[in-house]
Amino acid sequence: MPGADLDAIVADIAGTLARAEDWGEVASYIPELAKVDPAQFGIAIATADGRMLVGGDADTGFSIQSISKVFALTLALGKVGDQLWDRVGREPSGNAFNSIVQLEQERGIPRNPFINAGAIVVSDVNLGSYQPRVAIGEILRFIRYLAGDDSIAINGEVAASETATGFRNIALANYMRAFGNVHHAADLVLGLYVHQCAIEMSCRQLALAGRYLMLNGRHPDGGRVVPPGRARRINALMLTCGQYDASGDFAFRVGIPSKSGVGGGILGIVPGRASIAVWSPGLSPSGNSHLGTQALEMLAQRTGWSVFSPP
Ligand code: GLN
Repeated sequence: MPGADLDAIVADIAGTLARAEDWGEVASYIPELAKVDPAQFGIAIATADGRMLVGGDADTGFSIQSISKVFALTLALGKVGDQLWDRVGREPSGNAFNSIVQLEQERGIPRNPFINAGAIVVSDVNLGSYQPRVAIGEILRFIRYLAGDDSIAINGEVAASETATGFRNIALANYMRAFGNVHHAADLVLGLYVHQCAIEMSCRQLALAGRYLMLNGRHPDGGRVVPPGRARRINALMLTCGQYDASGDFAFRVGIPSKSGVGGGILGIVPGRASIAVWSPGLSPSGNSHLGTQALEMLAQRTGWSVFSPP
């Protein structure tokens, strides 16, 4: 994709979506997120050859929420390797992100690491023998390293707001603890989980943080973040499970491994080509950014980028 073309595509997507009439509904179950103005849209693309293309509100910070599950999973796999898969599955759930229904039948083993139950087990692993504060520091440092940006921080108000209202996640953690699949007390595990979700990043910072997944596990500075096979598997999970019960439709419409969050962000990875971040706070009923999904669909159509098409 020649540079000028990609610039024009990004400008066109940002221009078209800035005029959107239906922005979707902002998440309201976390009170602090309900305050965000829905009429915002940003896009940033970090390419494998080192370019950065931005459009719209690409430098506005937003709550990354469940996108943090990608970075938390990467850390947990670094700590316990494939043993993680004894405690978390790798199948799409076909259920909402915060669903509890499958846990009973599946004896407290969540379907995948990207639904809340799975991410809570991942947090339990990342907590290890640390105090939550130390484990939170570890994930924040990891994300800053990936993005090459030490200004990335946690929004304490969002974390407090979710802590005060996250009854479902407390239930999920305790339910899995009853099966022996969560080892720490719910308040400790969720202390870590809620703070990683409350990390605030802009599209530009998020696209930079995702580069290791487009570069076969390498940091652009040359360091190895994960082995190539692990980057491939994380991308596979993003494709099959990254948008919860809308993952199939998303693969059909977009075809790019992506992870969404209820803050309205989506991180998309085109292996060998691009790390893409889009953000618009309004969600569709499945809890994924309404315009963010549309933006990635437009981008995939115009660039031909997809894991299902030849390069
Ligand atoms: N912190 C949010 C929650 O646990 C994350 C959900 C999401 O982004 N889908 O509900």
